[in-house]
Amino acid sequence: MSSSRIRVLATGGTIAGSGGSAFGSGYRAGQIGIDDMLREVRSLGVEAELDPVEVASIGSQDIGWSEWDRLHSEILRAQADDSIAGVIVTHGTDTAEETAYLLDLTLDAGKPVVLVGAMRPADAVGSDGMRNFANAVRVVSDQAAGGRGVMLVMGDTVFAARDIRKAATSSVDAFRGFPRGPLARVTPTSLDWFGPPDRTGAAARFAWPDGLPRVAILIAGAGMDEKPVEALLGIGCKGIVLAGMGQGNAPARVLDALEKAAKAGVPIVRSSRVDEGLVDRNVEVDDDARGFIAARALGPAKARVLLMLLIASGMTGTAEMQATFDRP
Ligand code: GLU
Repeated sequence: MSSSRIRVLATGGTIAGSGGSAFGSGYRAGQIGIDDMLREVRSLGVEAELDPVEVASIGSQDIGWSEWDRLHSEILRAQADDSIAGVIVTHGTDTAEETAYLLDLTLDAGKPVVLVGAMRPADAVGSDGMRNFANAVRVVSDQAAGGRGVMLVMGDTVFAARDIRKAATSSVDAFRGFPRGPLARVTPTSLDWFGPPDRTGAAARFAWPDGLPRVAILIAGAGMDEKPVEALLGIGCKGIVLAGMGQGNAPARVLDALEKAAKAGVPIVRSSRVDEGLVDRNVEVDDDARGFIAARALGPAKARVLLMLLIASGMTGTAEMQATFDRP
């Protein structure tokens, strides 16, 4: 393996989780400090110079603005440091897609930035954390890793941030890429890219904001009425992502309430509660007439990240917003 210096930004998650028993099912995320984790990595013979910074020690369900703000500035610092080849972020898997996509939208596609996690805690039988970490080191150390945006390494697979979603609650193979599949296969002894970098030299698409607005995800269900929409507007949501049925559908009363909100200046993005498939404009729902934005390939979690950034950047036009969802 290359001996390049890699900045490791630790945030917690199952990769740093401990249950106190190899066969127990309960555990707590973020229990193992980054120094202890890296000691174990080195004991496996991973040769890269790993330079740790602890950003947080939490389950990623608790990640939010303050951790994202710190992560972003630490990555900028690492990108500006010529002695650092790339960055690994250890992260819980529950919200890895949100953090990865937020960073992807707000960082230059230069040095490689890789999120890595685990589905089984460090002391569980069959733990996947060390393998995933060794794989992440291999990816970040590779000459062809830059210029691809933020990536996620899990289950011997490398994904682009804009494509990932967590699709299983407990299997080690928990992530899927949609609409594109994996970027590469990786093991501790091999790395096979499926194509060249597609974003070499690309600048960040959005400036890092001063904060992120309140944007909620509303999951549509049969028989739902307009009250949940009114409740979300009542607590000051600046935008709503509908996780609709099928191609982003919802009962007429819900759509009518969302249309009213859209026409009052609250952007409404229609995504799907279904795992795969595009949500296109004007299929069953008349987006043009109602003033909605279609999430296209983005699932609800990533659609919310993009919408928060658009609102934070001061964008207001529906057509302008739609254009960013058309090109995630
Ligand atoms: N809920 C925890 C988290 O996202 C554990 C899940 C995991 O890391 O796989 O950090």
